Amino acid sequence: MTTSEIKAVATEYIINTYGDRGLAFVKGEGPYLWDAEGKKYLDFLGGLAVNGLGHAHPKVVEAIREQAGNILHTSNLYYIQPQAELAKLLIDNSDMDQCFFCNSGAEANEAAIKLARKYTKDSGRTDAYEIITMDNSFHGRTMATITATAQTKYHIGFEPMLEGFKYVPFDDLDATEAVISEKTCAILVEPIQSEGGVNIPSDGYLQGLRELCDKHNLLLMFDEVQTAMGRLGTFFGYQSYGVVPDVITMAKALGSGVPIGAMLAKREVAESFVPGTHAATFGGNFLSSAAAVATIKTIFEENLAVNAVKMGNYLAGGLMELKGKYPIKEVRGKGLLRGLVMDVDAKPLAAKCIENGLVTICTNDYVLRFLPPLNINAAHVEEAVNIVEKSMSEVF
Ligand SMILES: *Cc1c(COP(=O)(O)O)cnc(C)c1O
Repeated sequence: MTTSEIKAVATEYIINTYGDRGLAFVKGEGPYLWDAEGKKYLDFLGGLAVNGLGHAHPKVVEAIREQAGNILHTSNLYYIQPQAELAKLLIDNSDMDQCFFCNSGAEANEAAIKLARKYTKDSGRTDAYEIITMDNSFHGRTMATITATAQTKYHIGFEPMLEGFKYVPFDDLDATEAVISEKTCAILVEPIQSEGGVNIPSDGYLQGLRELCDKHNLLLMFDEVQTAMGRLGTFFGYQSYGVVPDVITMAKALGSGVPIGAMLAKREVAESFVPGTHAATFGGNFLSSAAAVATIKTIFEENLAVNAVKMGNYLAGGLMELKGKYPIKEVRGKGLLRGLVMDVDAKPLAAKCIENGLVTICTNDYVLRFLPPLNINAAHVEEAVNIVEKSMSEVF
């Protein structure tokens, strides 16, 4: 099918939650994509931070092939070997003790929200259920997670929101302490706000949140849906900041595109979930767990967190060199989560980049966001920077 044929059918039969998507990709290999007309693109969006190993990584393809030919699904009524292996890998590489598997980032955050309420009640604070989240956050699209997401654009039309969330500015410890009360049970925060504009924490902010949680007996929960899996230069984002939370949520890159999410917690907290309190039919099934095991092993075998630091710094440096010539405010981020912050609306620039063969996205109006695969090399970074420069020269 051509792009316009795919678009015609999709527009007729799929509820229009995504607007005009423009392109239809039909093949991917490494950091490259091809559209239905055969045009090649460099993918610096990585399926929204999902394709951490790029497209069609042989080890992931092989794991999926082998698993699909053997057994896909039995439900969580039975033990699942790759799920057990995956859990051990995640726990061996974190400060957490146990995990719960689901299918997406929103579901992982749902699990965290439920666990925070349950744990706090179990510990005797039966009236404490409020969770503090940050302005410009993004935690998902279910009712609980849009409520946790402190951006009114995601609430409009869906009111009433779930009870029990308090919003404060990101990176503001005083504002956070000011809303803590006897009703508060947890703080939920992204170590770096990606969707909200690649907002990075000041030195001491995450540590300050840890201290507030310890002082007031609250759970510190990190939404690492985008920052885990090596993207910031350590396997989990929190390891880059040396601040250990009580609960971690993850999804996006975990299965390299096979849907899977996970919530990890310290043992004492995790033990508030017991048989019957939470479940997901597909959560951590054979296929998604096998894909995740192969993905994680590859991140370690190929030393990709280290590569994310090197390539991230190279990308940031290349983009900074364009600063004097074009309306660039700054380059923000860490590892391979980077934002090119413009002084002007960045949407026309994002559109021009795609036209010129670089897939990227504009977030929060002014920010061109880059979430490339972690296994890119210097030549890929140079190719991307050249396309950004060419696109800037055409737009500005
Ligand atoms: C994408 C994202 C989510 C939601 O994940 P879904 O898989 O779309 O439900 C939650 N939190 C953060 C930080 C994300 O980037």
